Amino acid sequence: MVDIHSHILPGVDDGAQDIAESIKMAKAAVEQGIHTIVATPHHLNNRYENHKKTIIDRVAELNLIFEQEQIDLQVFPGQETRIYGELLEGYELGEILPINQTQYVLIEFSSNHVPQYTEKLFYEMQVRGLIPIIVHPERNQQLIEQPDVLYKLVKNGALSQITAASVHGAFGKKIKKFSQQLIEANLTHFIASDAHNTTSRSFRMREAYGMIQAKYGSEMVYLFKENAALAIEGKYVYKEPPERIKKKKIFNLF
Ligand code: FE
Repeated sequence: MVDIHSHILPGVDDGAQDIAESIKMAKAAVEQGIHTIVATPHHLNNRYENHKKTIIDRVAELNLIFEQEQIDLQVFPGQETRIYGELLEGYELGEILPINQTQYVLIEFSSNHVPQYTEKLFYEMQVRGLIPIIVHPERNQQLIEQPDVLYKLVKNGALSQITAASVHGAFGKKIKKFSQQLIEANLTHFIASDAHNTTSRSFRMREAYGMIQAKYGSEMVYLFKENAALAIEGKYVYKEPPERIKKKKIFNLF
């Protein structure tokens, strides 16, 4: 299985703090059935700054370490890019790193809000051939309250990725329920771990897929797994026409 979102790169953000922790995470990933993982450190926030070239170099180093340790896990470079107005300028300057240098860019919003300029920026990204993948929309307060905002972005070509632990229920019932609604409304296209460690923010991929299998059947599992594999090769992913989440259902969350 392919995992397109993780913080396995050591010492660059709030994920693995050192090589020993990266190795621990790698072993946990393999145990989950993950053979390929994208290292997606936070691009910029108050504490970190991780640009394209450094990430690529560090991923190469990490692959060598895993080889020496005989861990069967291939790491690809990527980045979790916090949305900002000058994102395209950053891309031109070689700071932004789509997953495995494809056209797919992991985009993070702040946890409570979606900026006004998002629609315009996503449009401009797509004009340049870049496809935004919104990470963990199920954990964004504004999207929980106004899922139509996500509907519109997806309808206009954005993709989204929900976090395995959300599906599994680690972030609470409300987020679990909203994750299911996103799956049912074709508003999400990937499941990824967003693993930061092997304890509080671990992989949970096998557990999430187990639940998806039980609730939606193997076809849905196949679709998500296939999409992750297609994305890292820069291929088109499966998309069903998105639907709006009905208001009544939203009220049931609370
Ligand atoms: Fe993340």
